[in-house]
Amino acid sequence: MTQRLYYEDARLAEFHAVVTEVSASGREVYLDRSAFYPTSGGQPHDTGTLDAARVVDVVDEDDRVSHHVVGPVPAVGDRVHGTIDWPRRLDHMQQHTGQHLLSALLDDHHGMPTLSVHFGDERATLDVREDASAPQLLRGLEQRANEVIAENREVRVSFADSSLVGTLRKPTARSGSIRIVEIDGIDRSACGGTHVSRTGEIGAVLLRDVERVREGTRISFTCGLRAVRASRQEFEALSTASRVLSAQPLELSQAVSTQLSRLEALEKQLRRVRDERDALHASALHAGAVQAEGGWRRIVVRFPSATAEEMTGLGQKACAMGAVTFIGMSEEPAAVVYGASEGLGLHAGQLLRSALQSSGGRGGGSPRMAQGVVADPSQLEVVLALLP
Ligand SMILES: [Zn+2]
Repeated sequence: MTQRLYYEDARLAEFHAVVTEVSASGREVYLDRSAFYPTSGGQPHDTGTLDAARVVDVVDEDDRVSHHVVGPVPAVGDRVHGTIDWPRRLDHMQQHTGQHLLSALLDDHHGMPTLSVHFGDERATLDVREDASAPQLLRGLEQRANEVIAENREVRVSFADSSLVGTLRKPTARSGSIRIVEIDGIDRSACGGTHVSRTGEIGAVLLRDVERVREGTRISFTCGLRAVRASRQEFEALSTASRVLSAQPLELSQAVSTQLSRLEALEKQLRRVRDERDALHASALHAGAVQAEGGWRRIVVRFPSATAEEMTGLGQKACAMGAVTFIGMSEEPAAVVYGASEGLGLHAGQLLRSALQSSGGRGGGSPRMAQGVVADPSQLEVVLALLP
């Protein structure tokens, strides 16, 4: 059995202990007492050192705590010195206590008890069954949580027998001695995690994304120094966007929607101009094309660089003039577009596909318009020679 020192003192960052067992693999070390928090209750494990070995994982094994180590493994009976990676632990304590606070306020003020919590490396989340996505609710919740932080209320840890424990926010199924974490006047919950000792140490709570999930609503949040870092990153991103768009951060959404409308209008204009250009180009090509044996005009256009979409636009205009086959070829990318006017009895897709097969290319399309690619531009002339 491992005596869990973090139960009594969550601020204990260094301790001495005796090694009681080392696993057969030699990587799991067991101690008579430990300040290392094992992954449990949604809170991630601590990291740190045991003498010269690094502790990379800590696992809860019911009445024991297993320390996964890398480096020199101590022997059974050794007295070792443990140190906890304190910035990591403090971060977890801030997120965890912030979660107690948010869960209590959501329950008491909005009738939304917490279903589950998760603490990730980037963000922490809590789920409620109800729809908690209203901006007014989130603003009020964040405001009240930060007021409680500023009130610097005491966070107490106590133990009581389950039969005498009194009212808890969420009934516990555990029996025997129960660990109770209380935020003065706000919350009383059964919890085995690590918490700060006054709400002021949470530092700040920032609510982030809110998403509807199958079970209800998932609220992301971030507390303490992590909140400061997140806010700084977001400010820098907003400042960059501000400079690019020449707008104040708070006016960015208006500036972006103005730019989007402008872009839409320009795209529409561009499509019209291209359409007109293609019509003029097709008409000039038609006039200059020689009548082929089949009685139609065979139009061939070579582009240094054109997309299949661009060539198709021109091809459609040319074929619409009637009695035309159109072959558009681009060097880079090495692509070909083939079109045939209606009424010629030609299937553009089938003709192009078989022409491409003999040159190792691939493609196809409808009876009127088809497109394909070849492995290298020298194959374009081979394909051209095969198309009527
Ligand atoms: Zn807790």
